Amino acid sequence: MKIYNTLSRKVEEFKSLEKGKVGIYICGPTVYDYSHIGHARTYVNSDVLIRVLKWLDYDVKTVMNITDVGHLTDDADEGEDKMEKKARVEKKSAKEIAEFYTKDFWQMIKMMNINKPDVVCKATEYIKEMIELIKRLEEKGLVYKTSDGMYFDTSKLKNYGELARLDIEGLKEGARVEKKLEKKNPTDFALWKLSSKDEKRQMEWDSPWGVGFPGWHIECSAMSMKHLGDSFDIHTGGIEHIPVHHTNEIAQSEGATGEQFVKYWFHSNHLMVEGKKMSKSLKNFLRVEEIKKKGFDCLSLRYLFLTGHYRTKMNFTWKGLEAAEEGYRKLKSIVSEWGGIKTRTNLSEEKLQKLQGVSLKFREAVENDLNMPQALAVVWEMVKSNIPEYDKWELIEDWDRVLGLNLGQVANNKQQITNEVEELKKKREELRKEKKWEEADEIKKQVEEKGFKMEDTAAGTVVKIK
Ligand code: AMP
Ligand code: ZN
Repeated sequence: MKIYNTLSRKVEEFKSLEKGKVGIYICGPTVYDYSHIGHARTYVNSDVLIRVLKWLDYDVKTVMNITDVGHLTDDADEGEDKMEKKARVEKKSAKEIAEFYTKDFWQMIKMMNINKPDVVCKATEYIKEMIELIKRLEEKGLVYKTSDGMYFDTSKLKNYGELARLDIEGLKEGARVEKKLEKKNPTDFALWKLSSKDEKRQMEWDSPWGVGFPGWHIECSAMSMKHLGDSFDIHTGGIEHIPVHHTNEIAQSEGATGEQFVKYWFHSNHLMVEGKKMSKSLKNFLRVEEIKKKGFDCLSLRYLFLTGHYRTKMNFTWKGLEAAEEGYRKLKSIVSEWGGIKTRTNLSEEKLQKLQGVSLKFREAVENDLNMPQALAVVWEMVKSNIPEYDKWELIEDWDRVLGLNLGQVANNKQQITNEVEELKKKREELRKEKKWEEADEIKKQVEEKGFKMEDTAAGTVVKIK
C-alpha cells in the first residue's frame, strides 16, 4: 500500500515496523464542546485508513486520547484551560464537562459507523506518565524553568520543526519584535504549567516542580509511547496540528528516547463552510445529530466524505449532502435486491474477467494513498456491470469492510427479513386453518412492521413489499 507521509511530503510505500503489525495513534478530541461534522470527517478518514490496513490483513492496534486537561485557549501556552473555562461558563465541574462531551463524541463516532479504538486514554489518568517523561527530558538538559512552568528548549534539538518545515530563523526575527515572554526561543513550549496563585484550578496535581497541570502536547507523547512503544507506525490528526502539536510531540518523544517517534504522519484536510474551517471557535459548526434530525441518513454524510480525497479540503453544502444521500440511497436499494440470491452460477470467461478487473481496480484505488473517490467509482462500475448478482453481493460485502457504509448488512438484512417473513407466513396459514383468527392477525401486524404487506387471496396469502 502507498501512503502520503507528511514527514517526507511524499507518497511512500507503507512498510510496518514489525511484519504484519501496525500501531496507530489517533489524535483525539478536546472534550469541552459538541463534536461537529468537521471532526466526523477527520475520524472517518482515520477509520478508513485503519479499515484498509485490516482489509490488507495487518494486525492493527489503535490508540486514541481524550484531552480532558491542558489544552489552552491560546496554542502559544497562554490563556485559560478550555475545560476549566467551559466548566466555569456552564457552572459544572470539569469532570462533568468532560463526561458529557465525551459521551457526545462517542455518539457521533457510532452514528458515523467509525470503529472505536482498541485503547482510549484520558489525559487526566496519565499524569504520572507525563511527569516521568518530563523528568527524562530534564535529565537530558532539554527543560528550563520560567515563572509559570517548565518549558522545552527547542534550540537543543537539531531537527526541531522538521515535520512542519518550520523557518526557525524567520520565527526568531518575528519574535524579537514582540518579545514579551520568558521563553528562550519562540518555538519553546510548556511541558508543565504551574497553577496561578490568584485562582484555584479544579484540575491540578503535585509534581517535582510544584502544583500545576501538564501541557497539551506532553499527554500525546506519554500516552502513545505507553501503549505503542517508543517508536510506532502511524500517527493521525488534522492538518492544523502539523506546525505546533505534532511538531512538539516529536520533540518531546525523540528528545527523551533518541529514537524516531513515528514513521508515517497521516494528516486529514479540513471540512470547510463557505471557505472557512468548520470549528467550535468560529461557531459555524453543525453536528451529525442535526443532520439526522433533518431526516438525512448519517451514512450519507460518510458517503459524502468518501467522495473527496482525505488530503483535499472539502466544502460542506446542503446540496452536496443531498446529492450524496441520493447516491447512497440508490446504492443501498440496488444492493438490497441482491440479498435473496443464494446460489453461485458458473461465470462465463467474459464475466470472470470483469469481476477480476473490478476487484483489482478497487484494490489499486484504496492502496493508492486511500483514493476513495476512485474506489466509489469502481463500486458503481461493478454495480452497473453484468456480473451475476451473487458475485456482486460477495464483492460488496468484502469492499464494505473498507467503506463502512453498512452495505453488506443491507443485503444480509434483506435476506434475513425475507426468511423471517416467510416463516411468519407459514405460521399464520397454520393458525388460520385452526381458526385462531386473533393470533393470525397478530402475525399479520408483525409482518407489516417489517415493511411488508399481506394480502389474502383465493390462491392463498401473498406477501408484498410495502
Ligand atoms: P479538537 O477537539 O478541536 O482538538 O479536534 C479534534 C480533531 O478534529 C483534530 O484532529 C482536528 O484536526 C479535527 N478537526 C477539527 N475541526 C475540523 C474540520 N473543520 N475539518 C476536519 N477536521 C477537523
Ligand atoms: Zn495529540
